[in-house]
Amino acid sequence: MTADLIDGKAFAATLRARIAGQVAALKADHGITPGLAVVLVGEDPASSVYVRSKGKATAEVGMRGFAHRLPAGTPQQELLDLIARLNADEAVNGILVQLPLPRHMDEAAVINAIAPEKDVDGFTVLNAGRLATGQKAMVPCTPLGCLMLLRDRLGSVSGKDALVIGRSNIVGKPMAQLLLADSATVTVAHSRTRGLPDLCRRADIVVAAVGRARFVQGDWIKPGATVIDVGINRTDDGLTGDVDFAAAREVAGAITPVPGGVGPMTIACLLANTLTATARVHGLSDPEGLTP
Ligand code: NAD
Repeated sequence: MTADLIDGKAFAATLRARIAGQVAALKADHGITPGLAVVLVGEDPASSVYVRSKGKATAEVGMRGFAHRLPAGTPQQELLDLIARLNADEAVNGILVQLPLPRHMDEAAVINAIAPEKDVDGFTVLNAGRLATGQKAMVPCTPLGCLMLLRDRLGSVSGKDALVIGRSNIVGKPMAQLLLADSATVTVAHSRTRGLPDLCRRADIVVAAVGRARFVQGDWIKPGATVIDVGINRTDDGLTGDVDFAAAREVAGAITPVPGGVGPMTIACLLANTLTATARVHGLSDPEGLTP
């Protein structure tokens, strides 16, 4: 059996077109244009690429983008002052501080300075806590994108055995919370997990967010399982996921490629979150199909 490809690129393009339509309607009906502020500290080349593509994506759906670039040596207080200004700025509905931050900064303190209603990355403790307790939250973009792909493929994940490999605050933990909220039976594996191949062989859904090229082997996959590969690893052969794609594809029912799977969903979900944040701050109902 050869698995179906889950085309995240095509799904994300459809999602962005839908968001562009919703943004246009928001402008026409209420005179509101969503605005996203992206803050980059330092000159990390990968981060610069992400920030540029976020700016471009914002413009493409008709939102306003505000880019703030600060030198690597910026004192933390200056960044906090900028965040305070963005929190107070009515033209700004979403604030994203590109991670990682330079070492002299306290990442948690910076992230938690973002007003929760503008926290389009969903990384503040308040939004993480809301997600964990089943309250309306801003949900981290990458796991939200994975959930959308899973629902599209499976209809419902209810009752399914889901294995999330990785426990980061950015991907693994919120992914597990989203699957749990959708009534999957969730296992979270991490660097100290024993017997990972056998855990994986039981899973109807595998979400790999490890950061190690081709880490998940083809013979760990349950026949027919749905495999979501979050990993982005730069290798001599180019970009590679956390799953041995060629081998897993022979066993799985459906699998995301890298590139072209989860990656494009992340930016689309950032736009989705910005639109959701805009609607909420104006007391409007959540836009259709963009929240978990
Ligand atoms: P991270 O380094 O913060 O977390 C990696 C996790 O993998 C940790 O929780 C660790 O416990 C676990 N792990 C490490 N070794 C393991 C092992 N041997 N067995 C089981 N688990 C192990 O990384 P992250 O930020 O969660 O990102 C994970 C991957 O996803 C990276 O490749 C990153 O580039 C990618 N990523 C992609 C997107 C996207 O948009 N597609 C977004 C975010 C992250």
